[in-house]
Amino acid sequence: MLHVPDFDYIIAGAGAAGVHLLDQLIRANLQHKRVLIVDHAALGAVDRTWCFWEDHTNDLESLVYRTWSNADVMNDSRALRLSLAPFSYKMIRGGDFFAYARDLIAKEPNVVFRTGIASDARTEDHSAKVLIDGQPVSAEYVFSSLPSEPVGGGVSLVQHFYGADITTVQRWFDPTCATLMDFRLPQHDETRFCYVLPYSPTSALVEFTVFSPRVLPHAAYLPEWHDYVSRILRLDSRDYTVDREEWGAIPMTDARFPTGAGARVVNLGTAGGLTKPSTGYTFLRTQDHARRIARALAHGRSPLHQHATGPGRHRLFDAVFLNVLGHHRQDGAAIFTGLFARNPTHRVFRFLDERTSLTDDIRLMAGVSRQAFLAAVWDVARHTIAAPLGSGRKTG
Ligand SMILES: Cc1cc2nc3c(=O)[nH]c(=O)nc-3n(C[C@H](O)[C@H](O)[C@H](O)COP(=O)(O)OP(=O)(O)OC[C@H]3O[C@@H](n4cnc5c(N)ncnc54)[C@H](O)[C@@H]3O)c2cc1C
Repeated sequence: MLHVPDFDYIIAGAGAAGVHLLDQLIRANLQHKRVLIVDHAALGAVDRTWCFWEDHTNDLESLVYRTWSNADVMNDSRALRLSLAPFSYKMIRGGDFFAYARDLIAKEPNVVFRTGIASDARTEDHSAKVLIDGQPVSAEYVFSSLPSEPVGGGVSLVQHFYGADITTVQRWFDPTCATLMDFRLPQHDETRFCYVLPYSPTSALVEFTVFSPRVLPHAAYLPEWHDYVSRILRLDSRDYTVDREEWGAIPMTDARFPTGAGARVVNLGTAGGLTKPSTGYTFLRTQDHARRIARALAHGRSPLHQHATGPGRHRLFDAVFLNVLGHHRQDGAAIFTGLFARNPTHRVFRFLDERTSLTDDIRLMAGVSRQAFLAAVWDVARHTIAAPLGSGRKTG
């Protein structure tokens, strides 16, 4: 007798990727499917904000809290004011995103949210199984954003940060202009910058960010953040209050994350390799992946391998870029500032979105010093030959 799975789809992990998928399933008119969404924490227990650039309207545009049409990029020797058009830089707050998810779940009778520890998602015969609090639950497909281990790769960095929403006593910020990257900080042989996203003339998110092999102890971020706020923003501690704080870490690696497990488990989000290795941006790529999965399912196709990766050369660019930074072949502050100084912003954004022509790519990569670039290409090639993709060498 044919075994009927407990659900059509199980979404294991209700973070950004899990919620994007649920949203896209409903947009693709799959609300008649029985969906279980499971997380070990309450929905939205982790508070964070997501930012991204975009030149069109997002499916979740109504959740966008702020947009910026201009941005500054600065280092010790130059200050650039960029017009972002036709793009804008957008922010969605976790609180709004998860409130939207709660509404979706409440409205859809076929969608169930459950708290529980999920593990061991696997393909079995004609269905997928996942253990929830140790008990097997089956579905036609399991979509998992549970943490996964990447394999292979040459350089693994972490983008780690501390940020705080502050309110100032006096009007201090220009809410139309974001500071995307301000490198006027001691670099300590790493890539360190602050970004400032003003919500209003008297409030902003100020985030201190590091690209390096390892995260710092929590306490180590605060002196750097305070130094930036007092020395560069010229705010005395009596001039502002801290309303909210966030710490975070995002992998920056050219190692491969598993895309799933067999024919019926599809990995999503960071765990599915949707993080752009050279920038850490994940939110839009994850949304796009979810949209493609939902469309495939709606058309009766397999949801596997729906990653919208650009031409393969972008993987090489990411690997080369990480290699340059990871081996200190060139100063990160100089590379990023040079990239924006030499190119119109839309070209840089399209490059990072993997939507540029080869000619544009060559122009953009010309910003990296030739010596650093060639040494990195040679090193990446050596690693690729010595450890072919998928050969199983774990990143350290
Ligand atoms: C603080 C922070 C800020 C970020 N800001 C941006 C940004 O501005 N722009 C951008 O593009 N990217 C950003 N990122 C990167 C990326 O977009 C986020 O990490 C995003 O949340 C990734 O989505 P995800 O669903 O893969 O992972 P998560 O959102 O972390 O979701 C995974 C979910 O799985 C659950 N889970 C884990 N283990 C289990 C288990 N065993 N059983 C059940 N549930 C489990 C977790 O509770 C979590 O809810 C940021 C990352 C961080 C950490």
